[in-house]
Amino acid sequence: MSRPLPLFHHPDYVAALPAGHSFPMSKYALVLQALAEMGQAVELIPPEPMPTHWLEAVHDPDYVAAVLGAEVDPARERRIGFPVTLEVARRTVAVAGGTYGASLRALATGFAANGAGGSHHALPDGGAGYCVTNDLAIAANRVVAEGRAQRVLIVDLDVHQGDGTAVIFAGRDDVLTFSMHAERNFPVRKARGFRDVALPDGMEDAAYLALLDTELAALLDAHRPDLVLFQAGVDPHGEDRLGRLALSDAGLAARDAQVVRACRARGIAIASTLGGGYAEDRMLVARRHAAGLTAQWAAMAD
Ligand SMILES: [Zn+2]
Repeated sequence: MSRPLPLFHHPDYVAALPAGHSFPMSKYALVLQALAEMGQAVELIPPEPMPTHWLEAVHDPDYVAAVLGAEVDPARERRIGFPVTLEVARRTVAVAGGTYGASLRALATGFAANGAGGSHHALPDGGAGYCVTNDLAIAANRVVAEGRAQRVLIVDLDVHQGDGTAVIFAGRDDVLTFSMHAERNFPVRKARGFRDVALPDGMEDAAYLALLDTELAALLDAHRPDLVLFQAGVDPHGEDRLGRLALSDAGLAARDAQVVRACRARGIAIASTLGGGYAEDRMLVARRHAAGLTAQWAAMAD
């Protein structure tokens, strides 16, 4: 297929971290390289930075001010896992803008991707697990508040539970959260989302894809969202450093295609975000994300 993949990206997506830090920040640049290697044409779309009041619509304004001023207290920084510098603050604003931009583009054309995002552990009053602010929540909340969608379903297939997103939207029926994750993985204490499916360690492709098919069809048919926000983490891969599941490269690609087809068959727009993915070899992780994006886009055309 020759049509270019609509992908939101900004140079601010890659913020400098202390040398040797374990968070794979470089993967957000390497994804572009991996897509080029695969011969996937890309339409790069620069996001608008997310205005502060939309950050404050889901996060405590004091926390937002601390992030934007690079003055997050040490206890909160420890929970995030890296220092919140001004560069990291610019990054979180750009990434939230990208998830929102991809949402609008998807609502207009059916599909778009953000080349970062899926920061699902960030809570109303602080970040956690490498997530500073919750781009999924910020974008979903804004899209609904602006009347661009009546209902958004967040489909979170990262190997870790989308606990921050679940907490932010608890009790709301205009933004629903679905998380399918490894039960024994981070976070130790799971939040209660709209629909949570906790998986046993070592689950492989066939069982995973069958369960996803059933769960997703039931949610889409019962709740009829206008927009799905897809957290397409590649950390359910069997060789991921932080995962506990056993999906293969083919299984992850099939998963991504399955989610897009399920939405497309029902006329539901879908915007995807990268989510987690961890290995010593950053290019290997970038290739997993790129393969997922390519599978998503191909499923829009087949
Ligand atoms: Zn993860």
